[in-house]
Amino acid sequence: MRRIRLITLASTIIGLLSFSCTTNAQKQKEQEKEPVRQVQKTKEEWKNQLTAMQYTVLREKGTERAFSSPLNANKQKGVYKCAACGTPLFSSQHKFESGTGWPSFYKPLHANNVEERADHELGMVRTEVLCKVCGGHLGHVFEDGPAPTGLRYCLNGVALNFEKK
Ligand code: FE
Repeated sequence: MRRIRLITLASTIIGLLSFSCTTNAQKQKEQEKEPVRQVQKTKEEWKNQLTAMQYTVLREKGTERAFSSPLNANKQKGVYKCAACGTPLFSSQHKFESGTGWPSFYKPLHANNVEERADHELGMVRTEVLCKVCGGHLGHVFEDGPAPTGLRYCLNGVALNFEKK
């Protein structure tokens, strides 16, 4: 009887230990998913600050309708900043006409301001592009762009504010 009790106790301890390991691993995974941002706001704060469409794209990873953004055909010289936090992200210098209906660039202005991560939504693997400072969703990057990088940053114009230089 005593032996059985010992075995039960041991298996309970092992069970508890492995449970705490998995929850720690899960916690770590969640933290990796959403890192602490320099600009951090609550859902409500973002909703108050952004337009409905900006919120859908930036905070819920939505996509604007092709050819809907005036920035798609914009050829003026200037800087494209994050519409949520104002961080300079892309430059007219690296903009090109992709024909997709979305503002397209072959590289970011400052690589440090932009985050790229795997996106498995819609049953395909794509690379999502985010503002590193606030975590706002900007669009995706594809490997069919022009020289010199061969990259195509396909962005939602609604996620950007243009500042003429
Ligand atoms: Fe931002």
